[in-house]
Amino acid sequence: MLRFAPSPTGDMHIGNLRVAIFNYILAQQKNEKLLLRIEDTDTARNIKDKDKDIMFLLTLFRVKWDNLIYQSHNLEHHRRLAEYLIAQNKAFYCYCTKDFLEQKRQEAKAKHQAFRYDDSWATLHKASNNNPVVRLKSPKKSLHFQDIIKGHIEFAGDEIDSFVILKEDLTPTYNFACAADDMLYDIDYIIRGEDHVSNTPKQILIHQYLNYSKHISFAHLPILLNNEGKKMSKRDNASSVRWLLDEGFLPQAIANYLILIGNKTPQEVFTLKEAIAWFDISKIAKAPARFDLDKLKFLNREHFKLSNEQDLALLLGYKDLSIGALAKLYLQESSTLNELRQKIDKIFMKKSLLLKTENPEFKEEILVLQNILLAMLETSNQQQISYEDFKKEAMRLSNLKGKAFFKPLRFLLTGCSNGPELSDLFPILRFFLQDILRR
Ligand code: GLU
Repeated sequence: MLRFAPSPTGDMHIGNLRVAIFNYILAQQKNEKLLLRIEDTDTARNIKDKDKDIMFLLTLFRVKWDNLIYQSHNLEHHRRLAEYLIAQNKAFYCYCTKDFLEQKRQEAKAKHQAFRYDDSWATLHKASNNNPVVRLKSPKKSLHFQDIIKGHIEFAGDEIDSFVILKEDLTPTYNFACAADDMLYDIDYIIRGEDHVSNTPKQILIHQYLNYSKHISFAHLPILLNNEGKKMSKRDNASSVRWLLDEGFLPQAIANYLILIGNKTPQEVFTLKEAIAWFDISKIAKAPARFDLDKLKFLNREHFKLSNEQDLALLLGYKDLSIGALAKLYLQESSTLNELRQKIDKIFMKKSLLLKTENPEFKEEILVLQNILLAMLETSNQQQISYEDFKKEAMRLSNLKGKAFFKPLRFLLTGCSNGPELSDLFPILRFFLQDILRR
């Protein structure tokens, strides 16, 4: 079984979404189940309803999970496993006060040494501290594992000191709850961000001490960098899945990009379903990948081209499928739903209102031509007319020529001073002339 294990402590970052998508793809490829594990044991950091938000976003991205658990429901198991480890002499109570540990930390710092817990401190404050933590005994030997992406990773024995597995309130730390649940749910493949590499030996050690010997494969994904080559953080808008969706990027395009980035793929534009057929997690580059919004924009346009007109129209807030076809003509210059919606909305806006905000050239001519075009609508059925005939007739009736004709015509038909060829737009626009030409 695979698992995606988000903490409900903040908005979903694209890095988390990438982890979720990869887990889903592998579960499909291996024909195994995917567990969604909400890691909610750090109650102070949990944010209400973030779990629902995570599930909504996963659903939107077509990441389906088979089982759902809340880690906090397993606290009893975690405690029992900790008691077992204490009984086995693999874990012990530590009564050190916070002040004492802080003092030791400062001393190590002053000596330019890494802080390491010393097991002989465990009972120093037993008399004064009624709320001990539980620590797992340092292995005092090196620990290693083979990462599917990063290769062989080794941690020296002195790098892992006796670390806390149960906090003062007897709730488990992340490492302990994670390792315990991975065992309880028979997880055999772990895909997560590389910020967890240093946690992995601790989790392996917990399994060893519990005599749990199932082989688990690990794949730690390199971080995503922003344009400046720094780790993408909350300050980068594009790091937020919500922001990307609000901007009008399609889930299909975002998923496509998150699979493509830092990867070798047989094609550039693909669906999640297609990726399941060829995705190879071992091909993910070791080096961090740089997130390029322009590339995502390109993919978004490609997915707009792939989507059907009716769906596209609905996404833009229109019922008529012709609007979807119209929107596709604007893909040369627009990349997101918001950009497309702005173009389409302008076509249908009252031109008298737009005259004030857009300040186009040839204002007089626009008003003249508007009257002529509206009169043309009264006398003949423009739905069957070709662009050539429409243009000729309007030119003849208005007596306008060159720029003084074409610029007003474009403004009246599209609400903009530039855009796609009118000859391409007109075959669709002619069905809506009554709405488009409203005063
Ligand atoms: N809750 C952790 C996170 O969101 C899970 C890490 C893991 O997959 O083990 O980063």
